[in-house]
Parts: sequence; C-alpha cells; structure tokens
Amino acid sequence: MQTPEEALLIRYGEIGLKGGNRPHFEKKLVAHLRVALAGVPGVRIQRIRGRMLVRGEAPAREMAAIARKVFGITSLSPALIVAREPAPMLAAARRLAAEAVAREHPGLGPIRFKVEVNRADKQFPLRSLEVARQVGAQLLADEPRLQVDLLDPELTVGVDLRPEGVYVYAGRERAYGGLPVASTGRVLCLLSGGFDSPVAAWLCMKRGLRVDFISFYSFPFVGPQTREKILRLAEKLTEWQPQSVLHVVPFSAYQEAIRDHCDERYRTILYRRAMQRIASVVARTRKGKALVTGESIGQVASQTLENMRLIEEASRLPVLRPVLTYDKTEIIALAREIGTHDLSNLPAPDCCTVFQPAQPIIHGQLSEVEEAEAQIDIGQLTYDAVHGTERIPLLHKP
Ligand code: ATP
Ligand code: MG
Repeated sequence: MQTPEEALLIRYGEIGLKGGNRPHFEKKLVAHLRVALAGVPGVRIQRIRGRMLVRGEAPAREMAAIARKVFGITSLSPALIVAREPAPMLAAARRLAAEAVAREHPGLGPIRFKVEVNRADKQFPLRSLEVARQVGAQLLADEPRLQVDLLDPELTVGVDLRPEGVYVYAGRERAYGGLPVASTGRVLCLLSGGFDSPVAAWLCMKRGLRVDFISFYSFPFVGPQTREKILRLAEKLTEWQPQSVLHVVPFSAYQEAIRDHCDERYRTILYRRAMQRIASVVARTRKGKALVTGESIGQVASQTLENMRLIEEASRLPVLRPVLTYDKTEIIALAREIGTHDLSNLPAPDCCTVFQPAQPIIHGQLSEVEEAEAQIDIGQLTYDAVHGTERIPLLHKP
C-alpha cells in the first residue's frame, strides 16, 4: 500500500461567516499563512470549501505549530491524505488514533471518543453512517480504553470524504480565532516597555488590525537598554503578523520643555498629550486609522476617566484601549501566553518616569492643561520630534 501523504487541515471560524467579504478575508489568511510558512520547502495551500489544506516538505505537526500563530484560524488537525477506498482510510484512522492516544492520553483511564464523517464526495461507496460505524468499531477493537461519547468527546477522529481524496485526522489543536491580520485596517500602537501595551497590540492584531508601533525614547535620560527592550518587544509581536514598522521618537527635548515651563502637577498628562499628538501625525503617514494604548482604567494616576479624556483630547485619531477593563493579573497571563512577558519583565526605565512630579494631578482640568501648553511651542516641538523619528521596518520571523 502507498504511504499516505501528510497535510495540515485548517479550520477558520468567523471569516466563514462574513458573506460577501469572505474572499477578502480568505485572501488575507492565505497571504499570512504563506509568510508564516515561508521556511517550509514546497509549501502549497489549497482552499477546500470552508477549510484550508496545507502540504509541504515538513511534518504536519511542525506546520501546525507555525500556523497556530496566524489569526483567523480556529483549529488545526494534522491529517493523512489517502485514496478514496475504505481500506486505506481505515488504516490511516487506526494509525492516527494510536498516535493521538500515545501522545495526548497517557495513563490507563477511559478516553471519550467519537468519529465524525463529512461526505462531500457523494460517489464514495459507503454512506457517512456506515463509515463512522466501521471506523469506530475498528478503533474500539484496537484500543480498549476508548468509549464512544458523541456529546463530549476528548478525542475526535475525523474522516473527510472528498472527490479529490480522503482526509483523515485525529484530534484538533485550538488556535486563537479572530480575523486575519490586515483584514480590518491599520492602527499605531504606543508601545512602552510594560506588560500592557504589548498585550493591547496583540489583541488588536487578533481582530484583524495591522499594528505598527511607536515608542517615545528620552535619550540620554533613559539609556540604550530601553530602546533595545522596545525593539525586542516589537520583534516578538511581529511573530503574529507578516511585518511591522517600529517608530522611535526622540522625546527628551519635549519633556525638558514641559519640565522647564509647565505646571509640575500636570507633567505626566502633558507628556501623554505630546505622545498622542506626535503619534497622530506619524499614524497618518502610515494610513493608520486609530491609536492604541495599554491604558487600563484605574491602574495609575493618569488612568482616571478625567485624565484619559484629557490625554485623548490631544489625539487627532480615535484611541483604542483593548485592555481597558483587564486586571493586571489577566494582562500578565496573556503576556505569558503570547511570549512578551519575559521581555516586559526586563528592567529598563520608561520615559514617563523622567522628572516625575511628587504629586501628579488625579482629576485634571482642560483649561489648566491648555494654560500649561501655552507656555511652550507645541507646533515646533511636535515637528522636531516627528522629523527626528527613526523608522525601523521589521519582518516576520517564525
Ligand atoms: P505599559 O505596561 O504598557 O507600559 P503602564 O501600565 O506602564 O503600561 P502607563 O505607563 O501609564 O501604563 O502608560 C499608559 C500607556 O501609554 C502605555 O500602555 C502605552 O500605550 C503608552 N506609553 C507610555 N509610555 C510610553 C512610551 N515611552 N512610548 C510609547 N508609549 C508609551
Ligand atoms: Mg508604561
């Protein structure tokens, strides 16, 4: 008997629902998959009604680990492609089920399982129910720990009967869902070295936004290790999208002007307003339609409703705050999951701690902010910062 070919079966949920937009989302998903799997020789991606099938010269499990980081995908199953006949189909199911049991169900207890059959090939000699019965009976005979449970299986063995071949898989790995990156627009994330803003950026990517980054860098008040940390965070986040741009803004002149001429209690708010102003200009040069921050309500003094309103007032674009309602513990758990935690945890000062006031204002007033800003040349400071900005393109690395 021929050895069956391995492939990766990809399911995508939400983008299947988007009606007329569906081809647009599918195209973005394929484009991202191609970039992610660029390191796999001979990779081929095929669209098969509502699913995708990936073949390449790498084990399907390896391709699954890479494709899991592509948003829009809900689950993945390494599969075997066999001829349209009962015998090779049965052999593939037995092999995959045995492997899945050995890998995922150590121990001796029962394993709830079911067989699911999709008969898109109406010419296949057996009906769905008959296929399920035959495969199920064989697997139960092979592995006494299996117990049929159609409602809540731990292990699903699937047989997808299609005119071009039969795909057999055992088990499925969950992916992150969401929408394919760059399918819903572009935004610019204000990236600091903390835990919050990288998680905020990731949540936006998950909803199909292409995210670029901007970071405010107060050299020499903060050292090159801060810049290095931000660069590494941006690179880490680019594992989740095909490419990004990191903008590093020289911010010390603006901060010094604020320190020397404005009401000390408003310093943090004024820094933040300066960031929004500069970020709005930079976003527009990149077709960005919104800014993103890692602000979370009540976390620090500048994150009261009043102060967030004052900060946002300086932006020319809507400000998205994906982690607004998250607890710090939830943010940190997500940071671990997406791989930014250890980088965020590295010690490096942020520009906001430079010249920090002893008594920052908690509920600021717009009139006082405007009075403070009238003491400095905002137009010139913004212009200089934008024009001094370093633009660093980053490419996806698997
Ligand atoms: P994070 O964990 O993201 O650093 P934080 O809890 O430290 O957030 P703040 O320091 O109050 O919160 O900053 C709020 C938001 O302002 C950050 O999430 C980020 O979006 C933005 N921000 C702060 N400092 C910088 C900076 N140096 N460069 C770019 N954005 C910044
Ligand atoms: Mg911070």
